[in-house]
Amino acid sequence: MIDLKKMTIKSARGHFAKKDFSARELAENYLKNIAEKNPEINAYLEIYDDVLAQADLADKKISGGNFGSLCGIPLAVKDNILIEGKKATAASKILREYVAPYDATVIKKLKTQNAIFLGRANMDEFAMGGSTENSAFGVTRNPHDTSRVAGGSSGGSAAAVAMDGALAALGSDTGGSIREPAAFCGMVGLKPTYGAVSRYGLLAMGSSLDVIGPITKTVTDSEILFDAIKGSDKMDSTTHEQTKNEKSKIKIVGVPYDIFGGEGIDPEVGKNFDAAIKKLQSLGFEIRDIKLPNISYSLAVYYILMPAEVSSNMARFDGVKYGLHIDGENLLGDYLRTRGQGFGPEVRRRILIGTYVLSAGYADAYYNKALMLRQKISGDFEKAFAEVDAIITPTAPMPAWKIGEKSDPLSAYLADVFTVTANIVGIPAISVPSGSIKIGQKNLPIGLQIMAPRDGEKVLFEIGKKFLGE
Ligand code: GLN
Repeated sequence: MIDLKKMTIKSARGHFAKKDFSARELAENYLKNIAEKNPEINAYLEIYDDVLAQADLADKKISGGNFGSLCGIPLAVKDNILIEGKKATAASKILREYVAPYDATVIKKLKTQNAIFLGRANMDEFAMGGSTENSAFGVTRNPHDTSRVAGGSSGGSAAAVAMDGALAALGSDTGGSIREPAAFCGMVGLKPTYGAVSRYGLLAMGSSLDVIGPITKTVTDSEILFDAIKGSDKMDSTTHEQTKNEKSKIKIVGVPYDIFGGEGIDPEVGKNFDAAIKKLQSLGFEIRDIKLPNISYSLAVYYILMPAEVSSNMARFDGVKYGLHIDGENLLGDYLRTRGQGFGPEVRRRILIGTYVLSAGYADAYYNKALMLRQKISGDFEKAFAEVDAIITPTAPMPAWKIGEKSDPLSAYLADVFTVTANIVGIPAISVPSGSIKIGQKNLPIGLQIMAPRDGEKVLFEIGKKFLGE
């Protein structure tokens, strides 16, 4: 019997090498578990019909003896990452029947290693949300408490790993969508440095903020998957090769204590964060109070820049080029009907806000001001990182909420208060499990967010591994 609970990417590779089990056997175990759990959790929108064929190819490579660290590793892939010949819908009705004509760069890289793609993971429509309640195909439930959300927008990816329905997953993060669901599901979620991982083949949300990254059980696995997907790509001119590889001497961790004055942070999350600080101190890190004077504007900046980019990225879905088409009386009618019926309410809301903040009369008042503040916030971080090696905050101000509890969009946006900054600035950030809060009979996982300077993923992995005792 294969113990999926304890399995990691790293340990699976060891088992393959020792012939304890084959990639096919491992994949079969996952498929069985998915068949049992997915009807309730709804982590997957589709399980591919060629999983075992993929596993057989991996087994061939394994028997040759020379195989990479992701060979035969079963992965869940967020439904906004293209795999040639497979559907990719971004959990939207407008792309319901869309079949990807090419592989995303991350997929291409993973294919050369013979990783196994199990299926399409559920998400908030076009990654707009923090709970996967905005999916056009039903909410994803949290495996730790099925009355609660799994987080989002990569909720399906995080829940798939948490329910032992995949060994690891790919998500995308525009303002927290890898870290927050990872935190809610007790997983490790990495939002890489902007441009460290190619966005080619990722259905765009906010192009200056988007990045693909791993959701895994351990920091070690996060590093393995990140190393496999990173690198510059001629298909995405915003990518770069990472050069910093030296082992760092990480000592000082900054805490922006100022930002905890505000309301909205669950007291239990505050207590959990204090305990995390103590743990880091006991591991030998010096904790330093830092100031990030403009960070209180982050959420406002994000909710202006992101919809602005959303409104232009969504313009391509016009009923002509891709996916859904609904006939109107004339061309404008086609657009209105297709987009009105194809997009869900949250996507429409963001298109409206984005169009507004970019419009001639308001661009100076909103969009251009937000751009100026983006610079200022980046400056704050630069100054802080001259003093400290990393910065920590809770990942989210609350644990996973009850399904339906945050139907007011503004209250949902507030959950992103700690995560959006890393996207605004472009720096890497990781969420690692930091214990749990007991509510009723359930233990709800909490995440600790660690941020580092640009291309400082190694810093995150080093602190994260120490924190989790890996
Ligand atoms: N929750 C945030 C939002 O709703 C982040 C989304 C994301 O990272 N894709 O925009």
